[in-house]
Amino acid sequence: ISLASSDKTAPVLRVENVSKRFGTFTVLQSCSISVSEGEIVTLLGSSGCGKTTLLRCIAGFWAPEEGMILIDGHNTVPVPVNRRPVGVVFQSYALFPHLTVEGNVAYGLRMRGVPRSEISRRVADALESVSLRGFENRYPSQLSGGQQQRVAIARVLVLEPRVLLLDEPFNALDAKLRGTMQIELRELIKRLGMTAIFVTHDQEEALTMSDRIAVMQGGRIEQVAPPDEIFDRPATAYVADFIGLSNFIPCKVRDGKVTLPDGQSVATKESDTVKVMIRPHNLRVTAQGTGPWQGQVRFQRNIGPLIEYIVTAGEAEIRVVAMRQDRTRPWSEGDAISLEVIDPEYCTIYPAV
Ligand code: ATP
Repeated sequence: ISLASSDKTAPVLRVENVSKRFGTFTVLQSCSISVSEGEIVTLLGSSGCGKTTLLRCIAGFWAPEEGMILIDGHNTVPVPVNRRPVGVVFQSYALFPHLTVEGNVAYGLRMRGVPRSEISRRVADALESVSLRGFENRYPSQLSGGQQQRVAIARVLVLEPRVLLLDEPFNALDAKLRGTMQIELRELIKRLGMTAIFVTHDQEEALTMSDRIAVMQGGRIEQVAPPDEIFDRPATAYVADFIGLSNFIPCKVRDGKVTLPDGQSVATKESDTVKVMIRPHNLRVTAQGTGPWQGQVRFQRNIGPLIEYIVTAGEAEIRVVAMRQDRTRPWSEGDAISLEVIDPEYCTIYPAV
């Protein structure tokens, strides 16, 4: 199945200033995002931030009060759900239990009155692309979770959508299977060259699956960027706090520089008091007396390949994470130690509000 269009530069999907209200409650506030051909973009945010609502607006289940949703340059807001060039894969896969794999995949084409010979060719192609040839006559109950999901994707693919919409497709799975399926699904979408929007509240899943992540909060998009940038250069304190572990430390700015508690400094355009975010793996624990940032190990634990310390330093509780093989000695609870920032440039600085 080829889903590529001729114009490789224009975005496939453009969401422009979309706002959505339920009664007087504003669920989406002027959300904009653009998705290129073959790109996987994830909407990530905590429960209730509006990510499912945005996905549903793109799918056509909801009509936004304001804004436009363009697919290949055409405004789709007036286009009914079943005529939009999108395909939705739901949380539960929503397969028909009484239909075989072939019946499930063929269903949409039958509903559209596609001729029989074309149906069997397209179904065969779709099953081929998700590596499920040979499973045509099985029922959903005779498939693993991963295979069921591939049927759900084949059922959508067969309709040749321009945009694949996936709403928390791994919710039903246990943690280990989830990890494997994330990799498989990303590889599959990439192999098919599909453009996809993916919804999750799981940051690790977003970091695994996405070309870019849109972090949402309270109906707004806070930052849209590739996973590394979201993690390493979070645009706001909210994003920094939401993705990964973070220490926020109030610091003073003088002459365009913030002095960190260990005495090192970083340039900033902010003024007065700021919050400096230091990732736990950007800190090192050293013997007391080696630096000005003194503390005491309150707690230490092994988390697989990592060792985590919670250090009490003045009023603050600071988290430090080190690779287990990196530790020079096993610091114990109660040890008096010093803290050091490994790379000051890797700290991010936010206004202290
Ligand atoms: P979750 O991860 O829990 O699904 P979400 O980020 O996907 O969260 P949405 O489902 O988009 O959040 O919901 C956003 C807000 O809109 C929530 O406060 C929710 O209660 C509200 N909401 C969603 N659907 C409706 C509706 N049909 N009528 C009224 N309010 C709604």
